[in-house]
Amino acid sequence: MQLLSIIVPCYNEEENVAFFYEELMKNRDFFEKEQLDLEIIYIDDGSKDQTVKEVKNLAKNDKRVHLVSFSRNFGKEAAIYAGLTHSKGDYVVMMDADLQDPPSLLPEMFSYLKQGYDSVATRRVSRKGEPPIRSFFARMFYRIMNKISDTDIVDGARDYRLMTRRVVESILSMGEYNRFSKGIFGWVGFETKWVEFENVERLRGETKWSFWKLFLYSIEGITAFSTAPLAISSFIGVLFCILAFVAIIFIIAKTLIFGDPVGGWPSLVCIIFLVSGVQLFCLGIVGQYLSKTYMEVKHRPIYLIKEEF
Ligand code: UDP
Ligand code: MG
Repeated sequence: MQLLSIIVPCYNEEENVAFFYEELMKNRDFFEKEQLDLEIIYIDDGSKDQTVKEVKNLAKNDKRVHLVSFSRNFGKEAAIYAGLTHSKGDYVVMMDADLQDPPSLLPEMFSYLKQGYDSVATRRVSRKGEPPIRSFFARMFYRIMNKISDTDIVDGARDYRLMTRRVVESILSMGEYNRFSKGIFGWVGFETKWVEFENVERLRGETKWSFWKLFLYSIEGITAFSTAPLAISSFIGVLFCILAFVAIIFIIAKTLIFGDPVGGWPSLVCIIFLVSGVQLFCLGIVGQYLSKTYMEVKHRPIYLIKEEF
């Protein structure tokens, strides 16, 4: 028998805990046929509802259900990391509790592992049912990200991944505090098979990601996997210096030839605004990297556990 660990991050998912379990168990025949033992690890990311109680109810009837409960909300990335740390399986898969990562794909995904792939990733080919603005910014993010980063970050990629033990160990060896899984998966490499599926809408409960949270997450992604913004701000600095130099020569020549009538202060004010804006923008970019470095050197734990079994 081989062990398959299933990691389910949950944040206020009381309606979904048992529902997910039922849906997963529809694959019972497949698990039996492939001789897979299960280990279902629910990561409670500081839920304020009955999520923990629901998991305990499940665990009463099924010894394969485990719980890791955080002392507060640490975010999905921390939940994934905790799940990987606690998993013992020869194979590990991460799935959202809201069933947007259909368990029915598991048999197909597993067949690729048997063909020799180390990692099977999923990607949704549509963004059906998502607000158009959100899709627009998501697309922009992936386009920019792939231009400025060496790591391949796939548009529409979900965190739904089935991996072998050695991929898990590789991911765990990256102990960084600012975790951007989509980048980490790309960074570790290995033979990856992509499985595509149509977007599935969340059936119960609400999404835990606000636009603002997603925006901050995108900055996380950029600073963690690219230093191009730093190079761009240096480039803008050089460009402005050259511009200023040309302008100085122009003005000296003009003054020598035509004299020096006073005037043009509105344009001067505009220029000051523009240049100080660009300066603050570039300083902000440097600040972003500095703040990430600051958090990193503190070596704070990625999550804290309140209860586990
Ligand atoms: N999640 C989490 N911690 C958080 C936010 C979300 O563990 O701070 C979990 C959530 O319970 C769900 C998964 O991450 O299982 C995906 O979240 P959600 O469905 O809200 O995101 P979306 O599918 O809308 O991108
Ligand atoms: Mg979801």
